[in-house]
Amino acid sequence: MIKLGLALAVLASIAPAASARAELYHLIPGRVPLDWQGPDGNSIIFDAPNGLIVIDTGRSPMHAQAIIDYARARRRPIAAILNSHWHLDHTTGNADLRALYPKADVYATTAIEGALVGFLGRGRAQADKLLADPKTPEGQKAQMLRGRDRIDHPDKLRPTRPILRSARMTIAGRTFDVRVAPFAASEADLWLYDRRTKVAVVGDLVVDIVPFMDSACPDGWARALTEIEKVPFRTLIPGHGAPMSRADFGQWKLAYENLLKCGRSTADKASCVAGWRHDAARFIDEAHQQYASEAAEYYIDTRLRSSAAEQQKYCKPLTASS
Ligand SMILES: [Zn+2]
Repeated sequence: MIKLGLALAVLASIAPAASARAELYHLIPGRVPLDWQGPDGNSIIFDAPNGLIVIDTGRSPMHAQAIIDYARARRRPIAAILNSHWHLDHTTGNADLRALYPKADVYATTAIEGALVGFLGRGRAQADKLLADPKTPEGQKAQMLRGRDRIDHPDKLRPTRPILRSARMTIAGRTFDVRVAPFAASEADLWLYDRRTKVAVVGDLVVDIVPFMDSACPDGWARALTEIEKVPFRTLIPGHGAPMSRADFGQWKLAYENLLKCGRSTADKASCVAGWRHDAARFIDEAHQQYASEAAEYYIDTRLRSSAAEQQKYCKPLTASS
């Protein structure tokens, strides 16, 4: 019931914006279920002369299928895939799409290499433990195997067109400002700005419920938000959650900066969590209230109040060490 309710809530909040702006972009909203399924990132689809451009491909088979169904309904091929960052809730579907559209190039930074050295390897070991546990539900096992397949065959995650620096680029015949944000939500995040529609697509540099800081460099992330603010976007699509106006983004940025400030001060942790809940209130739906608090507390502990070395862990290249 929770799962269905959540899915409906997400759809209800996204659908009007998506249909009203269908001529600008198509959004396939990623769900953030609170059980073992884990989140799907949002997917954004732009029309280009050579076919469709898909930004982020989700984690679950259902999400990848929704992208494929859209391409089929439009009778247009998927010409290119962009990944905002390597997290598996944004990249797992790459292989599903490329199985049907093998000519689709994948544009991403090379941060996946650092992730393969440590983060994803550790994730694989955890998955192995759950796979060996007879109490793990079958659905969860299927998902673990899907994720493990990507880690074991990293060419399913790697870019075919690595992007190393910010540039104005033509992809599938359509031109975008493609920006690299170093040491932000991941070792190098990709975001883009479309001058034609004034739409910015920023991946997990903006996430409605809480900033997912598992592989984050908090200060690099703050710098990326300042860069995004300089761009004259009208609509910003976050990695998770509904499209935002400039005012929404300004509020989210403020909430992020306050979380960093409070998290690094001597203030009571509960007050920092309450501060996040207050500042980001408009972005946290009913179903995710408790999760937002727990996650904010977790990220304060791990990224803002841990040892100096741990806090800086993701602020340097990861390929040399885990
Ligand atoms: Zn994500």
